[in-house]
Amino acid sequence: MAGLVRKCTQCGTVDRKVSWKSMAEAAGHPEYERAWTCGSCAWTEFELVSDETEGQGSSGSATEVPSA
Ligand SMILES: [Zn+2]
Repeated sequence: MAGLVRKCTQCGTVDRKVSWKSMAEAAGHPEYERAWTCGSCAWTEFELVSDETEGQGSSGSATEVPSA
């Protein structure tokens, strides 16, 4: 089960405290609307990444949302 999680655009830390099933779900979610701060570097900008791609390393920001 892949979820979308927040990844800091500054240091790349992935925040798994909150995850969403899809981009659409994230967009309407109050937690997504809320201000976010990176736990590692206090950066406030993030991108949504698929949780299952995390750990593969190299390619970085693959935001792929299956349209099922
Ligand atoms: Zn950060």
